[in-house]
Parts: sequence; C-alpha cells; structure tokens
Amino acid sequence: MADTAFAAMHRKAPTNPVPIPQEEKSETKLGVKPLEPTDIPSDLDVPDNYVTRTIETQKRLPPVTMANWHKNIQWVSFLALTVTPALTIYGLFNVKWNTYTAIWSVVYYFVTGLGITAGYHRLWAHRSYTASRPLEYILACAGAGAVQGSIKWWSRGHRAHHRYTDTSLDPYSAHEGFWWAHVGWMIFKPRTKIGVADISDLTRSKVVRWQHNNYLSLLLVMGLFFPMGVAGLGWGDWKGGFFFAGAARLLFVHHSTFCVNSLAHWLGEHTFDDKHTPRDHFITALVTIGEGYHNFHHQFPMDYRNAIKWNQYDPTKWFIATAQLLGLASHLKKFPDNEIKKGIYTMQLQKLAQAGEVIEWPTDSNHLPVVSWDDFVDESKNRALIAVHGFIHDVSSFMDDHPGGQHALKRFIGKDATTAFYGGVYDHSHAAQNLLAMMRVGCLEGGMEVEHLKQKVRERSLSGSSANSAFSSNEDVASLASYSSGRLSDGELSDVDFLQDLPKKEKPKHQPGCYVPDKFTLAIPPSEEFKIIRSAPRLRKTGGGHGSMASMTSLEDVSRADKIGDVAPLVAAAA
Ligand SMILES: [Zn+2]
Ligand SMILES: [Zn+2]
Repeated sequence: MADTAFAAMHRKAPTNPVPIPQEEKSETKLGVKPLEPTDIPSDLDVPDNYVTRTIETQKRLPPVTMANWHKNIQWVSFLALTVTPALTIYGLFNVKWNTYTAIWSVVYYFVTGLGITAGYHRLWAHRSYTASRPLEYILACAGAGAVQGSIKWWSRGHRAHHRYTDTSLDPYSAHEGFWWAHVGWMIFKPRTKIGVADISDLTRSKVVRWQHNNYLSLLLVMGLFFPMGVAGLGWGDWKGGFFFAGAARLLFVHHSTFCVNSLAHWLGEHTFDDKHTPRDHFITALVTIGEGYHNFHHQFPMDYRNAIKWNQYDPTKWFIATAQLLGLASHLKKFPDNEIKKGIYTMQLQKLAQAGEVIEWPTDSNHLPVVSWDDFVDESKNRALIAVHGFIHDVSSFMDDHPGGQHALKRFIGKDATTAFYGGVYDHSHAAQNLLAMMRVGCLEGGMEVEHLKQKVRERSLSGSSANSAFSSNEDVASLASYSSGRLSDGELSDVDFLQDLPKKEKPKHQPGCYVPDKFTLAIPPSEEFKIIRSAPRLRKTGGGHGSMASMTSLEDVSRADKIGDVAPLVAAAA
C-alpha cells in the first residue's frame, strides 16, 4: 500500500483535462448510507495541479438570487435551521420558567458542544489526541446530540475547509461572505463541488462507523429524547425539557459551531500568520467553547489546543487535558514551541515594519555628497555646520533647542565635534543621535580632518584642474579607502568592515567612553530589511570614474530647517 502511495505521489500530473477524484457517491447530510471501511485514501491519485486546475475548470452554479433561491434550497438543513429557532421563540413565550431546566439546558449545551469541539473537531477531524474507547462513544453520542451530521460527514467537510481554506473548494469559504460561511452553505446547494479530502482513517474506526450507521436514531435520542427525559423524569418539566434543553439548547449549539466558520474568519488578530482569513479573538472563543483562537488553529491544526496562553479561554483544551488525567485520553499533540514563536515573531516584525513606514529616516550616506575638510570649513562660514563621526550636519535650526545651550554648539561650527558628542563633553542619548542624523547634509571625505587629503586638494586647486572637486580621480578615492580601512577593494566596503578596523571598544574607567563608534544607534525595520541608522558613512565604490563622484562634491543644500518648514535665516544667529 505504501509503495502505491509513494508511486502515486511521484506520478506526473496530466496536462489536460484533470480528472477530479471520484469520491463517495451521493450522500445525504444525515448520512443514512452504511459506512464501509476502506484502506484506499480518496486523494491517492490526486494530480499535482489538482487545486488550480479544478478551480479553473470546475463548473459553477449561478449565484443564489431573489429569483432562484427557492430552487436552490437544501430542505433538510433548511428545516433543521428554521424549526429550532421557531420552537425556541414559542417556548420563551408559552412555557413556564423552571430553574432546574435552565441549568440543565446550559449543562447539556456544554455536553453536546464538547461532543463537537473535543470529539468531531479535535479528535476525529484533526486526530490531535487519542481517546479511549469509552470516551469515543461518549463523544460520538454527545456530538450526535448537537445535530450537525455524522462524524464522517462533518469531518470530511472540515478537512476540506482546512485543506482549501478561502478557495472555492472550501465548503464554507470566508470569501463567499460572512452569512454564507455561517449558514448559507448549508441552506443552499453548494455552488461548486468541494475539494477532495481523505477520511479513510475514519472509515476504519468502529465508533465512527457505528455512529454513522445509526445516526438517525442517535440524533433523535441525544438531540431530543434524552434532554427532555432528564427534565421530565428528574423534576417533571417535560415541556421545558423539550423547548429549552431540546430546541433552545440546540439553537445555541448550532450557532456556536457556525461561528467557528464565520466569526472566527472575520473577527480578531492574525497572531501567527496573515496568509489566510482565520483570526484569534476572545469573543469567538467565548461563544464557541474555546474554538476562537482560530488563527492558531489553522496554523497548527493538529495541536490539541486552540488557546496556548493560560489566560485564554479554551474549555475544550481543559476537557481533553482532564480526560488525560483520568486516563481516558492520551498522545495529546502539541506543535513545537519554537515554530509557534516563529509565527508570532514574524507577525510582530511585520507590524513593526508597517509602523516604520510612517517614520521619517535620515538620508543614507550613499545619497549624500562627499566633501573635503576644507570645503566643509569654508561653507561653515555661511551655515552652522558641525562634523560628527564623518557626517556633516546643518544644526542652524537647532541652535535654540539644544538642551546644552547655543554656546555648546557654536564653538563647534566648522569643527569636528565627534569626541565632544560621544562623551567628551556629554555622552548623548540615542534619541539625540537619531535627531542629529536628521540634520545630515553631507559626508566628510576621509571621515575626519585628514592632512594628506587636504594636501591633495590644495595641489589640485593650484594646478587648476578642478577648483572644488574633492574626488576628481580614482587615485584620490583609492587613497581615501586605503587610509580609512587599511585595504583596497573593487567592491563596496560596508561600514561594518570599516568599523572592524577601528580600535576595539574598551570601557574607559571612571569616565564616559569618548569617541567610541557605535554600530547601531537604532534598529527599526521600515521595510522587510532592517534599517539601521548608520553612525558612520559607508565607503563608496572605488571604480566609478569621475562622473558620479565629481557631481557629489558640494553639500546638500537642504537643512533640517527646510525639512520642517522653518526657513528663518538661522545661520546669522549661529554666527
Ligand atoms: Zn476555519
Ligand atoms: Zn479545524
């Protein structure tokens, strides 16, 4: 058998047309045809391109409209879903209140609800744990009392829901609308054939076959006679037993389960993944006996839990764990914690990235002009320019706002304030570093005042080749690279390489660390890539020829004042 399955997996997909796997022939929701055990999975011969080809080629019934709705009704489901609320409303106005019956109705709501959540859903549809034979019978009976079809019928649809979530092969796809996912898919004939899903394992279960083959009698006993009998024989309230423990309780159990298909795909958070519609929400959990952490459930469907935190409401999980303590359940499955954390981490990164997109970031060193020390000093006579850690900053608009006072800035105009900034005078906070980065207008050639580069500029201006170009030849660029990093490279030298060659950071004793370059001042990802505000400029490629470099030798003329719309002549104030 295993060999056949393996061979089938590697068989080439036929091109055209795709045979859709034949499944069990016509079946009714109430499942009256006897269920035979089989070893052959219904998806054994499924072609590689089954989903896309089926969606493309499958015929779709026209949408349900006001004109054709009466021709499209599935009467058995329709009656089951309309008679129950009608009986409930009648009972509310005509049947005497009895507290015992009220309590019994709530208790039986949980009993039959757990038959679906702990039985149909987590045990049979997902095999998330192993139940002992007695527990299997209890859950099969309780589930029948919820009147939602047999285990076989229910699990087959639910496995298709997980396998083809949000596609037209999903029997209750959330993309067809809230009400379609809630009840529409049962009241009206399906618009397409739902996707194939194997339940051969279930056909081999004695309990599943027993429940399926006796479904109609089980439904009547567990859905009606038992809840009515308990109230009638227990405290003589036959009528209340019928209307409340029977009909009203059933109405609530129905819509509780339906909310897993509708509400759980609409309300709440994408805690672990946002590829599909399922979401996590406490309210959904509250109305579905703990099935509301549906985003988790679709990501980790074989986990016996829906809620993984202690403070999240999941009575189904508590029920299964208690059954284990009592020796009625075993092999409770849990997904690896590491993989669960990965999902949370990814979604949080995505949220951070979105938050980062609305933040304004400093200009990257690759987009700033590179200027020589002499040009920087020259231009400082007209603007309040201060060099810090290889960047030139226009602090004109910040003079009045500087917490350390104007004088502390003024004395560094046209000078390198790196030592003072990084602890020599004051060890600035990361917020201060970020703010300073926003005032960048250029990069300093060589990163600081470099004597031999100054000499080259002077020689060049004497020879008259270029008056103000700091980088007019490849030779200059090479000399800069060799000076700064101690090695030459044809490619780009990252600032990480650059920093590796700087003296190792050593904590000074009894004084703040002076001129210790910090690799990261802030690490927030505004896109899929982490954005790090660079505290030192990146070195440029050495092989670009004159053109690109020559065009970037004057300082960017946009100051922070321009960016924030404050264009008062602050330079005068600085001078
Ligand atoms: Zn779902
Ligand atoms: Zn499920």
